[in-house]
Amino acid sequence: MSFVIRLKWFFKDRGWSYAVAIALMATVSLLSMIPPKLIGDTIDSIKTDTLTASGLSQTVLWLVCLSVFLYVMVYTWITTLFGNSALIEKLLRGRLLTHLSKMKPSFFQRNSTGQLMALATNDILAIGQTAGYGVMTLVNTLVGASVVIAMMLAYISAKLMIAALLPLPLLVLVISRLGKQVRNRFISAQESFGKMNDHVLESISGIRVIRSYVQENKDLRAFDEMTSEVMNKNKRVSILNALFQPLISIIVGVSYCIGIGYGSYLVFENEISLGQLISFNIYLGMLIWPMISFGEFINVLQRGSASADRLETALTQQPDLRDIESPIQVQAPTVIELKRLSFTYPTATRPSLEEISFRLERGETLGIVGRTGSGKSTLLKQLLRQYPVDPEMLYISDISVENIAQEQVKRWVAYVPQEHLLLSKSIRDNIALGKPDATAEEIDRAVEMASFTQDIAQMPEGLGTIVGENGVMLSGGQKQRLAIARALLIDSEILLLDDSLSAVDARTESRIVHQIRQERAGKTTLITTHRLSAVSHANWILVLDEGRIREQGTHEQLMLLGGWYKEQWERQQMEASLDE
Ligand code: ATP
Ligand code: MG
Repeated sequence: MSFVIRLKWFFKDRGWSYAVAIALMATVSLLSMIPPKLIGDTIDSIKTDTLTASGLSQTVLWLVCLSVFLYVMVYTWITTLFGNSALIEKLLRGRLLTHLSKMKPSFFQRNSTGQLMALATNDILAIGQTAGYGVMTLVNTLVGASVVIAMMLAYISAKLMIAALLPLPLLVLVISRLGKQVRNRFISAQESFGKMNDHVLESISGIRVIRSYVQENKDLRAFDEMTSEVMNKNKRVSILNALFQPLISIIVGVSYCIGIGYGSYLVFENEISLGQLISFNIYLGMLIWPMISFGEFINVLQRGSASADRLETALTQQPDLRDIESPIQVQAPTVIELKRLSFTYPTATRPSLEEISFRLERGETLGIVGRTGSGKSTLLKQLLRQYPVDPEMLYISDISVENIAQEQVKRWVAYVPQEHLLLSKSIRDNIALGKPDATAEEIDRAVEMASFTQDIAQMPEGLGTIVGENGVMLSGGQKQRLAIARALLIDSEILLLDDSLSAVDARTESRIVHQIRQERAGKTTLITTHRLSAVSHANWILVLDEGRIREQGTHEQLMLLGGWYKEQWERQQMEASLDE
């Protein structure tokens, strides 16, 4: 029942097509009752010597017309019903993806990639099966069985029917019992299969690390164990399946024995005619499928309901952050202001940011430095509102971010994260991610500003080179510059660079910083870095330590202060001159 409730919207929307399919199925069931009756009647007329040539050819003509008609009807209901199956899968996958795209990092911390992949594939498939195959088996059972039983009662003999049907409930019992076990074993096999997939994914993406630590053999052994487990579990499923078929045949066989044995007795007793006996046995055959259907229905429905529940759980998880009813329209982000912002990750026990305050006017550059783990990336993520922010603490154009639509903020910001994400597409597509309609000149300019032109010239297919999964074809520095070109292409109001130049040499870095300064005059830029030369030009520099601001000022002020900044600066200058 929960299945129907969860998918009420779909059944409501597609109600008419289900009605058409069910009506056709019922008609097909009804019309299928005619041929056995005609055959029985013909045999009776042979026996009583009343069969005429014209009567026979009329019967044959009927049978032929009927099969053509049934063919068209069956074709129509199958395409309608299974069309619904495919449609619901498509709709649900769309919903799931839309939902995922709204979710914030905390959601993905709770739900692993593997789980979400399983939802998008296996679970949605199971729901689609229930909405198509499941409905078919249900209608088959209800309509099919009642029509056949009605025919047996009306035209043949109630006694014979009851006797022959005695073993059939056993069939239902066996199917649902064994079916449950098959399902359990199947789920267990699927889980192992999922684990094996995860392992393959990890081995392939981590192959370089595995090789460099000479762990290939260990990895292969682990994989071998997993494939054996998958094989054994699948074997266990097929053992049950193998038991299934003969059992069904035996039960059906018993039913036929009763039908023929007791039926012949009734013929001798003249309670029914020979033709009726033959019709009866054909009807009996027609009853087996609805019975098997019923077992199938129970199985499919249980799987579908479990999957619908799982999907619902994921879909009802709300994003941590939602827009207010009527957000304020802000023309441009003239000022970014943090007022004593503190932040603790949902899973952490200690705050990662404490009492951070600054005010950044449009067109200014803010440098954020500090040792590793001091909270630099976290600060940028707060501006992106990846986690809920206290509305009293973050203001844009003197309006609390709570009152500004998230979409709007996203449109202002270009973000180059510390771990870049590249798609396995061409370099051009990767750069144009945020602006798919960019012209060739715009792309060339962005590439030039990111000092990426020479690298591209050396690639086999230039901008069209496919970078491989997450950019395996590129060096660390190339990936970083690709990510910068991508951000510069959209020429946003606010640019966030999170340690985006760590993998390029000092000379390239200073060239890129210079280009960005020129290009982004009048626009706001925030840069976090370990190399202080990348922010020495900034209007203001924050030095973070354990989530707090330890020092702040311009480069000159910080040098005069003589603290961590000055010490780092001098060490880095010395290292640079040694490198020269
Ligand atoms: P680095 O220079 O190495 O990039 P960082 O200054 O950018 O360091 P952050 O990534 O901001 O440091 O991390 C600050 C603190 O927050 C660290 O102690 C880190 O362990 C913690 N932290 C970061 N991300 C999460 C998260 N998703 N959940 C819980 N804690 C986190
Ligand atoms: Mg960081």
